[in-house]
Amino acid sequence: MTGKLTLRVITPDRIVLDIQAETVRVPAVDGSMGFLPRHAQLVAALDVGLLSWREGGKEQTLFVSGGFVEVKQDTVRVVSEAGERPADIDVARARAAEKRARERLDHSREASGQIDTLRAELALRRAVLRLRASGQSGS
Ligand code: ATP
Repeated sequence: MTGKLTLRVITPDRIVLDIQAETVRVPAVDGSMGFLPRHAQLVAALDVGLLSWREGGKEQTLFVSGGFVEVKQDTVRVVSEAGERPADIDVARARAAEKRARERLDHSREASGQIDTLRAELALRRAVLRLRASGQSGS
């Protein structure tokens, strides 16, 4: 394999990554998608999950939360609500978010749909995947 991909990850408050990578894998809503240099042009929606890339032969990961990926001319551009390296993840915050979401879901069962169940389920997924990304068990 020759050539590299430029990987840029942007969130509402910062440029999280602007690097050269040998391979990139993203959590698309239709499943995991992997890219090598010279990949065909595409745009896809992203799920919550782990983006990974190989840089200098080393595999690295980033938690991302929705958004889009665009692949064009050996550049992978990701725009997401969040982009956190494992070391950036505040484990106590993620645990608190998990607990809060589980309590809301328990409550929502008792209150039969009074509480926004979907919102709580999405918050729970983010928390569990953040804990997994940080190397802590999510459940
Ligand atoms: P919380 O309820 O704790 O705010 P959340 O899942 O609702 O969690 P998001 O809306 O996904 O939070 O993210 C809002 C901002 O906070 C983003 O910039 C995101 O990177 C950051 N963030 C959220 N949770 C964490 C965490 N556990 N560690 C580091 N950054 C976090």
